[in-house]
Amino acid sequence: MNTATTPKAQVPDIAAQITFAMRAMGIAAIPRNYELFYEAYLGSNPALTRDLAGFGSRATQEELDHLGQQYFGSHHTRTLESAHAKIIHELDGLLRLLKQEQSSLESYNKLLGETYTRINSKSTASADILRNAISILTEATGDTMAHGEKTVESVGLRSQDLDQVRRELDEYKRIANTDSLTRLANRRAFDERLAALYDSPATLGLKSLVLIDIDHFKKVNDTYGHPVGDKILATVATVIRANLRKGSFVARTGGEEFAVLIEGNTPDEINQMCERVRSALESTPFKNSKTGVNYGPITISLGYCMAADAEDPGELYAKADVALYCAKNAGRNRTKFFEDGMKKDFSKSWLIYKR
Ligand code: GH3
Ligand code: MG
Ligand code: MG
Repeated sequence: MNTATTPKAQVPDIAAQITFAMRAMGIAAIPRNYELFYEAYLGSNPALTRDLAGFGSRATQEELDHLGQQYFGSHHTRTLESAHAKIIHELDGLLRLLKQEQSSLESYNKLLGETYTRINSKSTASADILRNAISILTEATGDTMAHGEKTVESVGLRSQDLDQVRRELDEYKRIANTDSLTRLANRRAFDERLAALYDSPATLGLKSLVLIDIDHFKKVNDTYGHPVGDKILATVATVIRANLRKGSFVARTGGEEFAVLIEGNTPDEINQMCERVRSALESTPFKNSKTGVNYGPITISLGYCMAADAEDPGELYAKADVALYCAKNAGRNRTKFFEDGMKKDFSKSWLIYKR
């Protein structure tokens, strides 16, 4: 599935397509089912896509959960469910504590009211009456304060538990947004970031998207095998990451494709960054130290576009992809900046390139 080749007016709404497919298969619209379909739709895990398609027009929840366990491990359901249960438990506890606190304050308030009435009912407040009232109030104030301290302590403990749940959820989110082979952000995380880019149009100025694709990677796989290809992919990811500014968002968006979101740089500066990454990779040795086989050189092509030159995330992606296509077409191992005159040739050769 490639959103980049789709003209702007037809940029697919992934959420709508997934919802449609799930509805057509009579599948419950719950987050863990959506997660399965999302991954299958993106095609980042071909085995998952194949298994899900294998269910045909019907799949039971049990079968779907089994698939979820298989591909996402126990995180798929257990972490979320246990975090959910813990949060509910902690919030119940907090609510109970606050209710107790409220009723204790209500009693104190009532006592204050009664004392006020007693003092007021005497035309001349004798010293005894005042002493008595003050002693009652002092005792009640002490009780209320002690109760309040206890409540603060309990709330503190409960908030520590909630903090632990938050950490577990953060960890779950990190795993769900990370590509396991390269440790970069995955397609899901990239889609979210890209969609958020146009939330504040006023700051689009120096934001940009760079698309990177390894050159002739199929040949590398065909020659040395998939496991070697995987190792090369991980090294390429490390080189890309190491040669970019810390704040840049780097994701593996597909098999041998990467995307970078950069903020705060002019087109010229981005060109320099891209060229730095490109030449760093070109000069990275890819030699097997045991066998002496040299897998390199490995090269990449890069295309980029400024966010301000596109109307929305779909158009930005499509334009950066056009620039990437031009880099490939011009001989690979180079960087191209999207310019208005650039055209993507939708003829045969492009379709072959995209398969
Ligand atoms: P081009 O220079 O035009 O990009 O050529 P290419 O061969 O890189 O492009 P093509 O899209 O034809 O092939 C991409 C190849 O990437 C196909 C597949 O063999 C390989 N590939 C995709 N995902 C993975 C992966 O996760 N691991 C490995 N080892 N290879 C992958
Ligand atoms: Mg590719
Ligand atoms: Mg490629």
